[in-house]
Amino acid sequence: MKPPMLMTPGPTEVSEDVLTAMSRSMVNPDLDPVFFEFYRGVTRKIARLVGTEHEVVVLGGEGILGLEAACASLIEPGDRVLCFANGVFGYGFADFVKLYGGQVVFCYGDERHPFDPDEVLTLLQRDPGFKLATLVHCETPTGLLNPVPLLAPLLRERGILTMVDAVSSIGGIPVAADAWGVDILLGGSQKCLSAPPGLAFLSISPEAWAAIHRRKQPVAGYYCNLSHWADWYERKWFPYTLPVSDLFGLDAALDRVLADADVYERHRRVGQAVRRAITAGGLELFPKSGWSDTVTAFLPPSGLKESEIRREILERHRILLAGSLGTLTDPVIRIGHMGENCWVDKVSGALEALDATLRRFGVQPAAPLVDTFTAALD
Ligand SMILES: *Cc1c(COP(=O)(O)O)cnc(C)c1O
Repeated sequence: MKPPMLMTPGPTEVSEDVLTAMSRSMVNPDLDPVFFEFYRGVTRKIARLVGTEHEVVVLGGEGILGLEAACASLIEPGDRVLCFANGVFGYGFADFVKLYGGQVVFCYGDERHPFDPDEVLTLLQRDPGFKLATLVHCETPTGLLNPVPLLAPLLRERGILTMVDAVSSIGGIPVAADAWGVDILLGGSQKCLSAPPGLAFLSISPEAWAAIHRRKQPVAGYYCNLSHWADWYERKWFPYTLPVSDLFGLDAALDRVLADADVYERHRRVGQAVRRAITAGGLELFPKSGWSDTVTAFLPPSGLKESEIRREILERHRILLAGSLGTLTDPVIRIGHMGENCWVDKVSGALEALDATLRRFGVQPAAPLVDTFTAALD
C-alpha cells in the first residue's frame, strides 16, 4: 500500500526530482576530487538560503546532531548559557547545554506566546554575563515563531554568542543569519527543504570559530566536534564518510527552493489561510500570537481526543497529521504546511479530511474548513 501523505511538520513530502537525485551512482566522498567541490557547492547554496557569507557545514545525521554538535563544540564546563525556553525544543537545547557542562540559566517564556524583546532586554540589562545563548526560531511542537531578528541583536550587542535552532523555519520563513547577528544557525534536511531526514547543517560565524579554537578543554567527543571541519576544504578531508545519496538529495532540494521565487510568499499565504480556516471552523489555535507559517497547532474540540481524530484521518483518508510532543499542557493536532506540503491542493486535502472527520464524530465546524481556507488565500 502507498504510504500516507505526510502532512506532518517533518519529515515532509519529498519531490520526484529529489528522489531521482538520490538514486545517482555512488562516488567515493573521501577520494573523489569532484565530490569536494560538490559538497562545497551544497554549503554555498545553504549559505545563500540562510543569508550568511560565513562558513556552512553539513553533518551526516538528523537536525538534533547539529544542536548537539554546536553545544559540544562551543560549551566548556562552567560556561554560563542563557537558554530561551517557551517550548519543547527550547528546553531540549538546555539539556544539551547541561550535558556538556554548561551552567544553564533559563529565560522562561510562555508556550502560547513568543518572547517579548522588551522583557528580554530588561533581563539582559540586569545580567549580561553569558558566554552564549540558545534560541529556537520556530517551536515546531506548538507552531510558535520567536522573534529572533529582534532578540539576536540584543545578545550580540552584549558579546553573547547565539545558537539558533531554525530547523523548521529555514526554507519556509526568511532567515538572515548575518543580518540578525546569529553565530550558529541550525537547520535540517527534512523540514521545509523537503529532503529525506538524515542531514543537519549549520552556519558558523568567525566569532563562533574563535570560541571553538580558544577552548582550554578539548571537545568531549569526535562526531560532534566541529573543529574537525575548520579546514576540510584545504585538506580535502572529511572527519567521516559522508552520506553521499542524502547529499545528492539535499542539493536537488536546495535547487528547488532557491529557484522558487514564491516560496516565502506561498508559506505566508497558506499559513494565514490555514489559521483562518481553523478559527472560523470553531477550533482554537494553540499559540495566542506569533504563529509560524510552516506549521499550525490547534486544540481538538472538547470531548474529542487528538489521537482519535488523527487515527480516523489516517485510516480513512490516508493523510498523516501530527500530535503533540508530550510535554505541552494541552494535547494538540498539528498540520505541517512546510516545503513540499505547502501547496494549496495538499493543504485543502488535509483540511477536507479534518472537516469530514469532525462531522463524523458529531462536531459541526462553524464554517466549512476548505471553503474558508480557499477564500482566505489572498
Ligand atoms: C525537527 C526539529 C529538530 C530536529 O529534530 P529531529 O528529531 O532530529 O528531527 C530540531 N529542532 C526543531 C525546532 C525541529 O522542528
